Amino acid sequence: MNHQPTPQTTAPWQRAATGANLLGADGSIKPTIFEELTALALEHGAINLGQGFPDTDGPEELKRIAERSIRSAFGDGGLNQYAPGLGLPALRDSIVDHQRRFYGRDLDAGRNVLVTTGATEGIAASILALVSPGDRVVTLSPFYDSYAAMIGLAGGEHATVGMRWPDFAPADEEIDAAITAGTRLVIVNTPHNPTGTALSRGTLERIVSRAAEVGALILSDEVYEHLVFDGPHLPVAAIEGAAERTLTLGSAGKTFSLTGWKVGWVTGPAELITAVRSVKQFLSYSSGGPFQAAVAQGLAYDDAYFRGQADRLRAGRDVLVAALRSAGLTVSDPAAGYFAIADVSSLGFEDASALAYRLPEELGIAAIPVSAFVQPHEARHYSSLLRFAFCKREDVLQEAAERLKRLPELMV
Ligand code: PMP
Ligand code: GLN
Repeated sequence: MNHQPTPQTTAPWQRAATGANLLGADGSIKPTIFEELTALALEHGAINLGQGFPDTDGPEELKRIAERSIRSAFGDGGLNQYAPGLGLPALRDSIVDHQRRFYGRDLDAGRNVLVTTGATEGIAASILALVSPGDRVVTLSPFYDSYAAMIGLAGGEHATVGMRWPDFAPADEEIDAAITAGTRLVIVNTPHNPTGTALSRGTLERIVSRAAEVGALILSDEVYEHLVFDGPHLPVAAIEGAAERTLTLGSAGKTFSLTGWKVGWVTGPAELITAVRSVKQFLSYSSGGPFQAAVAQGLAYDDAYFRGQADRLRAGRDVLVAALRSAGLTVSDPAAGYFAIADVSSLGFEDASALAYRLPEELGIAAIPVSAFVQPHEARHYSSLLRFAFCKREDVLQEAAERLKRLPELMV
């Protein structure tokens, strides 16, 4: 367990950039690692296994519903004017039905659900609503970059629980040591980006019971909920003692392969949703109506649709993990999500970050160094790890497998 105090003397935007490791020593701000490596991939015509987005769109039917909603005129089912701040009633009802069907949760569409502009806005609004300057916020590490940026913006003190290669299971003692008295918020992410870990029931119980002991709230980012390869997803809110203190995030981006639509949602206790809503209404006021209408239909798809998504991703994982292993890398066994982690030291490379900047040009592949997802003082534990995305078509992954065969040659 470690923490990085947030400097209070800098401007809020600098604190956000510092939180996400994007502030240069000369005061310059770097783009996010996703943007930077996607640009490099485009420049060199590389296969982009860096930024996590699918290379096929979600269901045609959902695209048609969004299109129809855009085409209809005001008063004729048209949704081109402001949607309600909480989200379209049809989508909120659909979120409630989906939570009941998959997890047996009983939510009220008027009090327990807030639609957001992607899970990203849900993360921002939740942290800004709940974290005061000096409050301790605990995340797992590696962590998704926007948590750190928003903790920095809110002036929180960011402490972490390490997930260490190769199994990435957080140790109970680290959980206990990190979630101390004075902790305001614990951010959980399961299934986890970047490691592909689905946190075990034991780990979640430990986190929830510590949070309850010290009176901390929980923000659980479950955007990969439908991409668990073996067995059902275990939501944090289903753990005993969690529901009354937990806000849960979902996203149409991952569930329907529509990452550009930016439709997300937050569910949880009415008083917490009210708090998050009061910030959300001044961030975006409301989110895009036509896309919400389509996602409302998507969440009602039968179970086979959702299973199909996990099956497709599992097949992609199998192709990519096999390719990385035949290239000589040691690779994790991701249980869920979009990503696999490879240790490049098994081929003699020491600095995965330096390698990530060479790969697009020299191998025609882009990947993200895991050190981009940790605090600077933790980077040494992750310096030889690269994250590869497998949310791509099979022919693209096969071509990546061909290119990876040349990876050992880059050592000379
Ligand atoms: N949380 C995690 C863990 C993610 O990986 C992502 C996106 N890749 C998001 C949140 C953001 O979701 P959205 O695109 O819905 O804003
Ligand atoms: N969530 C995506 C990833 O982890 C990237 C989203 C972004 O670029 N902010 O790759």
